[in-house]
Amino acid sequence: MEAQLLEGKKIAEKLRAEIVRNVESLSKKLNSTPALHAIQIGEDPASELYLKSQKRAAESCGIKHEVTTLPASAEEKDLIGEIERANRDPKVHGIIVQMPLPKSFRVDRVLDAIHPDKDVEAVTTSNLGKLVIHKEGLAPCTARACIRLIEETGVDVYGKEGVVIGSSKIVGLPAFLLMIGKKITSTICHTGTFKSGSLESHIRRADVLIVSAGKPNLIPGAWVKQGAIVIDVGINRVDGKTVGDVEFEAAKKRAAFITPVPGGVGPLTTMTLMENLMTALNFQQKK
Ligand code: NAD
Repeated sequence: MEAQLLEGKKIAEKLRAEIVRNVESLSKKLNSTPALHAIQIGEDPASELYLKSQKRAAESCGIKHEVTTLPASAEEKDLIGEIERANRDPKVHGIIVQMPLPKSFRVDRVLDAIHPDKDVEAVTTSNLGKLVIHKEGLAPCTARACIRLIEETGVDVYGKEGVVIGSSKIVGLPAFLLMIGKKITSTICHTGTFKSGSLESHIRRADVLIVSAGKPNLIPGAWVKQGAIVIDVGINRVDGKTVGDVEFEAAKKRAAFITPVPGGVGPLTTMTLMENLMTALNFQQKK
């Protein structure tokens, strides 16, 4: 039997309806509208695309979306000053620092200037640390979207074997930590696993597989365990088409559930950013 498709768009629509209800009740309570504030330096085409999708998702939920563009000549201290201003502004509930930053900037130092309770992308050391020790905090949107997709299958994953390919700070590593939080027995693989030739053996035993390497068709469908849940985060352009990291057609014949690319993780990620904003607002309310 062919795998069931995990379509992020449909799940994002369900999530949007939940957020809209939450925004309405919180707006009344606060007497102001939940607001997301993005800061960018200069203009970059990839950053502009991300800003557009943030704005579309925010407005579809009744959330305010504002952008501050600093001149391309701005220095690190100007950006940190702008972040600190947004930290103090009670009308700003979530802060996003758009990438890429100029090469001379210390990225970690800039991101750690964001107040952890307004860190909707969960890029601060504080929020990553909270994830490590399973303390309440904000978690990166793409990693959370992966977990939401796993939950949507309705499969009991307690004690199952989970494998994450990729150990980036925004996807692979937090997805691995969230899997552990769900009591999935988890392994994380990276370029070292690939070079040692043991990627296949890890993948073959994965009941839950999350792939975020950014390498087109890295995972042959034949490696996928029968009945597995496959979450493909990769977005790659090949011959004018967008493909994931998993060989989709062959994997579909073995998996029980699989995300398409495009249309899987991507659409849910942006809506999860709005969900994170509402979580952030709750933290700010408690203080
Ligand atoms: P990254 O480049 O920061 O990290 C890639 C990770 O994959 C690294 O840990 C690296 O060790 C590992 N890796 C690379 N080649 C490998 C190989 N051959 N075998 C095993 N591991 C390998 O990337 P990222 O930010 O995690 O993004 C990965 C992919 O996911 C990209 O295609 C990106 O466009 C996509 N992405 C999608 C979304 C979404 O919402 N759908 C969000 C973020 C990223």
